[in-house]
Order: sequence, then C-alpha cells, then structure tokens
Amino acid sequence: MEKKYVLAIDQGTTSSRAILFTHDGMIHSVGQLEHDQIFPQAGWVEHNPEQIWNNVREAVGIALTRGNASHEDIAAVGITNQRETAVVWDRTTGKPVYNAIVWQDTRTQKIVEELGGDEGADKYKAIVGLPLATYFSGPKVKWILDNVEGAREAAERGDLMFGNTDTWVLWNMTGGVEGGVHITDVTNASRTMLMNIDSLTWNEDIAKDMGIPMSMLPEIRSSSEVYGHGRQRGMLPGVPIAGILGDQQAATFGQACFEPGTAKNTYGTGNFMLLNTGTEPVRSENGLLTTVCYKIGDQPTVYALEGSIAVTGSLVQWLRDNLGFFEDAADIEHYARKVKDSGGAYFVPAFSGLFAPHWRADARGALVGLTRFVNKNHIARAALEATAFQTREVLDAMNADSGVPLKELKVDGGMVANELLMQFQADILDVEVVRPKVAETTALGAAYAAGIAVGFWNGEQDVRDNWAEGGRWKPTMEADERDRQYRLWKKAVTKTLDWVD
Ligand code: ADP
Repeated sequence: MEKKYVLAIDQGTTSSRAILFTHDGMIHSVGQLEHDQIFPQAGWVEHNPEQIWNNVREAVGIALTRGNASHEDIAAVGITNQRETAVVWDRTTGKPVYNAIVWQDTRTQKIVEELGGDEGADKYKAIVGLPLATYFSGPKVKWILDNVEGAREAAERGDLMFGNTDTWVLWNMTGGVEGGVHITDVTNASRTMLMNIDSLTWNEDIAKDMGIPMSMLPEIRSSSEVYGHGRQRGMLPGVPIAGILGDQQAATFGQACFEPGTAKNTYGTGNFMLLNTGTEPVRSENGLLTTVCYKIGDQPTVYALEGSIAVTGSLVQWLRDNLGFFEDAADIEHYARKVKDSGGAYFVPAFSGLFAPHWRADARGALVGLTRFVNKNHIARAALEATAFQTREVLDAMNADSGVPLKELKVDGGMVANELLMQFQADILDVEVVRPKVAETTALGAAYAAGIAVGFWNGEQDVRDNWAEGGRWKPTMEADERDRQYRLWKKAVTKTLDWVD
C-alpha cells in the first residue's frame, strides 16, 4: 500500500501536537492538546510526564481520525520536542520518579554556581559549547537525584532512565517497559551539558561532576534514521520512528536553513534564533550557544549558533493569565494598536533570569519608564516590543560572532501571526522579516527528518522546493528613532540585573 503521509509529533512546552504532512509539505490534519503548567513555587516550572504521554497518544488519535487515515498510510514518524526539559523514570515500572523539570525552571541556580566554582559559568564551555545555566538538563537531573527520596540509590542500581521529552515519548511509543528503546538524537543531547560537542559522545567527567550515572543516559543517534517501530498494541503498530530533532533545530530544518549563514527565529513561549554555521562548531564570543543543528544519517554533522530568549510569548500569557488583560493571546494586538507607541514604558520580562546574550540568573522582570499617562494599551504594546528588542540583542550578537550581517530573517512560531509585532521587528532590526506559508515549521522539520530516513523524501532539495513565502515585512522606521528606542531598552535591561539576593 502506498504511504501518503509522514506523522510529526511536536511535544511542545504548552501543548503536544500530532500533524500528518503530505508529500508536498502541506498539513493534512492536526490533533492538539494542552498540558498543565505546574508552578509549585516561584521560579519552578514542572510538567506531568504521564499527562504528556497520554496527550501525545490522544493527539495522534485525533490527527488520524480527522485525516481519515490509518497507520498503514504513514511512512514514518518524526518527533520534535521542548528541549532541556528533564524526565527521570524507572525502567522497570515505567513511572517517572518526579515531574518533568521544564527548561524555564530556575531551581538549579545554586547547583549551577557550585558546579562552576572558581572557574565560573564557562567551566565546561570548551567541551559542551554551553555556559553553565539553569536552562540545561544535566543540573536538573542532579536536582532530582539529590532531592527525590531513594532516587540516587535507584540510579546507582541502574534502575533509572533520563531523557528529554523526545526520549520519553520514543521509549513509550516503542513499548515502554516491554522493550522500549532508550535513544536521543544529537540535537537533544547537545542541550544536556553532558555531551562533547565535537565527538558527539557523553562526557563521563561532567556526568561524574553532576553525580549522574552513565547507565541513566540514552544512546546518542543521528537526527534521521530508524530508531525503532511503533509498539504492536499501540496506534502505530510497526510504523518506523525515524526522525528526532529538538524543536528549534526542527524549525531550522523545516525553514530550509541548510546553507551556512542562513538563520531562522521562532516566536513561541520563548524565542530562539539559530544560525547555521556549517560542519564546524563555532564558539561564541558574544553570549550565544554552540549547538548541533542536525545530522542526517551518516552525513556530516551541521552546527549552529543559537540565541535563546526565555520569555517572549509567555509574557503575553502572563498578561492574560496573571493580570487578566485579555481572554485570548491574539487579543493583545487589538489593545496594542489603540496606541501609537508604548508611552515611554519598557517591559523587560526577566522572569527566568535573562538568557542570551546576558546569561544572568540573578535578573528579574521590570516594567520601567512609567508615568500617569501609561495605560493598559501601552503595557500591551511594551510587552510585544520586548520580544522585538530581545531579538535585536541576539541578532547583534550573531552578527558580531559571524562577522557577516544577516540580510533577512526567516520567522515562525505562534507569535508571528501578530502583524504589529512583525512590522516592529523589521523596524527594530532594520532587516526584512519573512514568514513561510506553512508556519508549523517545527513539526514540518521533524517530518522531513523522518521522511528522508525512509525515502519518502529524497533529501534537502525536496525541503527547499516545498518552502514557500507567506509574508514579508520591510523596515520603515527612521534610524534615529530606532537607535533612541534601542538605547532606552538597553537602559531598561540594566534595571533588572543583580536583583536576586
Ligand atoms: P510553543 O511551541 O512554545 O508552545 P507556540 O509557537 O505555539 O509556542 O506559540 C504560542 C505562544 O505565542 C504563546 O506564548 C502565546 O502567548 C503566543 N501567541 C499566540 N498568538 C499570539 C498573537 N497573535 N500575538 C502575540 N502572541 C501570541
């Protein structure tokens, strides 16, 4: 029977999606379910791994039903996921020993400082390409082993497994306690602080420093190969699972950023700009991360420089949920459009400290420049502008590291539906901003990785051929005005630093 679709599973921060893609890279059907955001105390963010796995299954069921498809129509499954979010579970019971600790969680700040010691945040940078930060999985695993009763002993007995959510979903899909495979891909492994970025192998010394037994770690594979097959009693019996890419790497792939010097920026819960740097890892001098971009089967590894921003779309959620500003995230544009500017207000959402290019765990959010004139609409506008200013900081760092200014920026993610933001982004960057027709580039990238592994697609040329432009914004702001606003933004950032005792 001829295969019609590739299924992508996008296990994201706010929801899990299952999407069937056709051969021309178009969406055939979608299933999507949100999961709970658990905030046990200030700075902590957790997800329930069992809820995530149930949602993934349900989302797959919905996508199949809506698409009038069965497992026999599916050539392969690709997985993409929120990276760095750490799950630790028992290999004999299949039960997580603790909730997943989410990438935004800052509870590991002390662990990170202790690990750095006199050498500070760059202690492992030459090996793993990353600064020591609460963001990455390794310190979160250490926290679980240090704080969950009996976890360290169980880990040392070899009973526990660790994975980002790609590994958790793959293990369950391929059979769980009945023979699930314990595998991750190079892109996810590059976000743990435990993988040597040059050799693509686990670094035993760092694992030892963090007290993580090697037996907990998944096998590292390429981003595009058959890892296993859907379990017989599941919804996808025998279907090859053949692609894994961390969400930001998947979007880079889905946006066809295959040439060194091409970049994309994804606007979701946070913002993530990745610049393809080719087959050699480039160490940043300007606060960016060195990360694996993708590795297709036996082909050479492709690397990227990444600028990660913790809070962009989640600031919109915060205005909605914590302050009750509006019912729906998309309504922010309606309010922001009622005013011509932010009325002098600048909102620096350092809710998880500041990530790129600052890497300051001690920062906390600030809303500055307030006068009696400022109202709700100005604050809504300042919140959107914060996304654009943070992106400018990252783009400046990319240009400084690469020495070649970016000419245009490919964008995707939930926030790019916001036209006001896209125009302001082009204005503040002074580069053109381009949105593809299919905005679900994250899921699409994972689908391509899987489809290429099984021959459904021939390779990167198919991805390029399927990419089509869906929108473009050109800068119109005067240079003086751009400079003035960016200068004030930078001043606002200084007000957030050194806040935590
Ligand atoms: P993720 O993959 O990180 O879960 P998405 O790409 O689905 O995120 O984007 C969702 C984020 O985008 C949410 O944080 C939401 O607040 C924000 N968002 C969605 N629509 C809009 C909009 N029209 N304007 C501004 N922000 C939006």
